[in-house]
Amino acid sequence: MPTIFTKIVKGEIPCYKIAEDDRFLAFLDINPLAKGHTLVIPKKETDYIFDLEDEVLADLNIFAKKVARAIEKTVTCKRIGIAVIGLEVPHAHVHLVPINNIGDLSFANPKLSLSEQELASIAEAIRSNL
Ligand code: 5GP
Repeated sequence: MPTIFTKIVKGEIPCYKIAEDDRFLAFLDINPLAKGHTLVIPKKETDYIFDLEDEVLADLNIFAKKVARAIEKTVTCKRIGIAVIGLEVPHAHVHLVPINNIGDLSFANPKLSLSEQELASIAEAIRSNL
């Protein structure tokens, strides 16, 4: 069965898209730790990030770098933290999270509840900074 992220890639489920090319897609996490929390995925479904081919893993990070630059121009923060969890969705992805201190990257923190309008406007602002 395709993952929820594959359904997003195929356009069967909507997302707040940040960037894409033929191999990668970045979109806002629907339950963000912080405003601008973005997921970057390879479009081709692979569960475990360390099962990706070396070149795909490298290019995923290069793609994520471009997206991180745009997030940091958009959201006030000290850094963009990067994390790989992968316990919920079996489709390789990295989390890009605006952070100001180490605790901001804890996935035990409560998630923000943002309206559709807020998510759409954050996504648009990040896209404009790409
Ligand atoms: P992980 O697999 O890294 O533990 O967590 C998966 C992440 O994907 C979570 O942060 C969760 O909020 C996010 N997520 C799960 N389902 C969806 C979805 O349908 N759309 C979006 N945009 N994010 C999702």
